[in-house]
Amino acid sequence: MSDYTFGIAIHGGAGTIEKSLMTSEKKAAYMEALETAIDAGYEVLDSGQSAISAVEAAVIELENCPLFNAGKGAVFNSIGQHEMDASIMDGKTLHAGAIAAVRNVKNPITLANIIREHSDHVLLAGTGALEFAEKFNIQIETDAYFHTDHRFEQWQKIKGSDDFQLDHTSEKKYLGTVGAVALDQNGNLAAATSTGGMTNKKFGRIGDSPLIGLGSYANNNTCAVSCTGSGEYLMRAVTAYDISCLMEYKGLSLQEAAEFSILERLTALGGDGGVVSIDKAGNMAMVFNCDGMYRAQRNKNHKEIAIYK
Ligand code: ASP
Repeated sequence: MSDYTFGIAIHGGAGTIEKSLMTSEKKAAYMEALETAIDAGYEVLDSGQSAISAVEAAVIELENCPLFNAGKGAVFNSIGQHEMDASIMDGKTLHAGAIAAVRNVKNPITLANIIREHSDHVLLAGTGALEFAEKFNIQIETDAYFHTDHRFEQWQKIKGSDDFQLDHTSEKKYLGTVGAVALDQNGNLAAATSTGGMTNKKFGRIGDSPLIGLGSYANNNTCAVSCTGSGEYLMRAVTAYDISCLMEYKGLSLQEAAEFSILERLTALGGDGGVVSIDKAGNMAMVFNCDGMYRAQRNKNHKEIAIYK
C-alpha cells in the first residue's frame, strides 16, 4: 500500500441551483452521473494508474453526459455554435495541454491531453487545434451531436442580446463546466477542466477553463485545482494558481487557501463560482460562493456526492 491517501474530486459546475426547480428525477439523474464519473476516475487510481489518467477518465464521463456543460452538453454561443475550452495539467512535470474555442471534438479533454503529451505548445485554439485532433485520430462529431433541447431553449431566451449566461442557474446566471482533480498512489497530482463556456457568449470568447493557473492548476509541491464559475472573474482572480500560491508562500492549508481565494477574493471582485481541489497529502477542499455545486469526492475511506451546501 502506498503512503498517499490517493483520491479524486470532481465538479459539474456551480451556480444558483434553485431547489424549487429541482425535481427528484432530475436530482437523481445528476447524482447518478456524478457517481459514474467519480467511480470511473477512482478505479483508474485504485488500479495504480496516474492522476492524469484518472482526471481524464472522470472528465470524459462528464463530457459524454448531456446534463453538464461540456462535450455533448455544451451550451450554444451567440451564433448557435458549440465552442469548447479545456485544459489538463500534470503536477509532477508541470506539463500542461489546453484547447480553446474548438468545435466538433467529442472529448475536448482528450485533445488537451494529447497536446500536453505530443506538442511543444500548451494551448491550441480553433481550427489549428482541430487539425491537431485529426492528426491524432481524435473522435470528431457533427454539430447535431452537440444539440440538446434544453441548451437550445436556454439560448433562445437571450439570443440576439448582449447578455451571456452561465449554465445551471435558473434566472440570469447559468454556471456550468466540469472538472476533476486527483492524487495517485505515487503522490502525483493532476487537474482537468472542460466547458462549453456560457450561453450566448460571443463567438471567439475564451473563458478561464483552458487557461493554466486560472481554470486548472496542478503542482506536486502544493495542490491540484479545477475551477468553475464566472470566467471573466476567475481570470482576473487567477484563482487556481492563487490557491497554490497561498499554500506555497503563506503556508495556508488547502481548505484555508481555497476559502480565502473563493470566499474573499473572488467574492470581492463580484464573481460567482467554486473549486474542487486536493493537496499532496490527499486532503480535499470543495468551496463555492453560490447556492450549489455539482460535486463528488472519493478516496479509500470515503465517498460523497452532493449538490447543495
Ligand atoms: N468558467 C466557465 C467559463 O467562464 C463557465 C463555468 O464554469 O460555468 O467559461
